Amino acid sequence: MKLAAGSATHTGLVRGNNEDSFLVDNEHVLYAIADGMGGHRGGEVASRTAIEALRASVAAGLPVHDAIVRANSAVIERATGDEELTGMGTTLTAVVVAGGRQLLIGHVGDSRAYFLHDGELRRITDDHSLVEELVREGRLTPEQAESHPQRAIVTRALGVDTDVDVDLYTIEVEAGDRVVLCSDGLTTMVRDRDVERLARSEPDPQRAAEVLVDAANRAGGEDNTSVVVIDVVEVDAVSAPDPELLAAPAEPPRPMAPAPDPPPPPEPPAPRASLGRRVRGALLLFLPLVLVLGIAIGGVAWYARRSYYVGFANHRVVIYRGVPGGVLGWNPTVDQSTRLVDRQLTQIDHDRVTGGAARGSLSGARQFLATLEADVAATSTTTTTTSTTSTTRPARKAKQPAPKPSRPTASTPR
Ligand code: MN
Repeated sequence: MKLAAGSATHTGLVRGNNEDSFLVDNEHVLYAIADGMGGHRGGEVASRTAIEALRASVAAGLPVHDAIVRANSAVIERATGDEELTGMGTTLTAVVVAGGRQLLIGHVGDSRAYFLHDGELRRITDDHSLVEELVREGRLTPEQAESHPQRAIVTRALGVDTDVDVDLYTIEVEAGDRVVLCSDGLTTMVRDRDVERLARSEPDPQRAAEVLVDAANRAGGEDNTSVVVIDVVEVDAVSAPDPELLAAPAEPPRPMAPAPDPPPPPEPPAPRASLGRRVRGALLLFLPLVLVLGIAIGGVAWYARRSYYVGFANHRVVIYRGVPGGVLGWNPTVDQSTRLVDRQLTQIDHDRVTGGAARGSLSGARQFLATLEADVAATSTTTTTTSTTSTTRPARKAKQPAPKPSRPTASTPR
């Protein structure tokens, strides 16, 4: 496959520094966007660390999924022991060639990959954001989501937890197709139909990337904007027609669905058929006891795995699945992370989160997150009041409010 790529990035008109990073590596046919978050220089360092680890891992022959997992570890390691970098994280969306006619996209966070085919732009990636999850659950309309005050909360990012869930998408491509990678600085400022119009009308990939970044700045440039445009110049010839392809309905290629939900909770232990005969005989005697124990343990596991609460992980506010402290060896795991870090919280909110707040359902935990976010927005001094453009879109809050000058302590009421 032959590809041609262009790229552009800009700090925008509001932010002081550019926390986005991108990669155009024609040698390894690897393209990526990362949007960093975190106080001080954290965001910049996180996105740069992730991109560099991704590049080195793909160059060393790792598949893109594993390379993104490596990038996650690299961000966590980089932050370890460095007070200024604590709580930093980043999105990462990467494209590699998967075959003669296929591209593979790995994705974590709320940057996006779009696919332009026959003049029609389709979004490939799901945003890992609170607002888009509410849309997927039918609790918000896409129109409500566009101006939702909590649209900046990401639910998955690199640098938060050693376990990271990477979405993978495979797309079938033809010569003339185009993939657009972008940070949310583009998509929060420019509507999809305008992205489509601009991506379609500019044939040169470098010019297309520049035009898209310019459009974000003309619309207010409230965030850093980065765009990588990848054009499919030539695909490999197929030696023989694939009967499955011929039988398939004449539809444009569709992105594959992301990985399914995590596996169900552990079943209560049951007697194994492969046990030795004598053991089995002894087991029969104790079978009622074993069954009762199994059901009890299964019940506790069920309870532990279906409970959620809000706490801190690595100084970041997250939703845990499980119960605080764990129960019978089932330790809580990070279910969703956010962009909120501990030093942004009021002392009262901080104490509530330290105690494992909003124990119970996932929706309860999310509601509590929304109140935290609202509190942070109310105390933040960086809410956007600078935008005086004639756009009808409401002003949005900065994704990462400026960090408080010092860590909260009991003696400094906030
Ligand atoms: Mn951004």
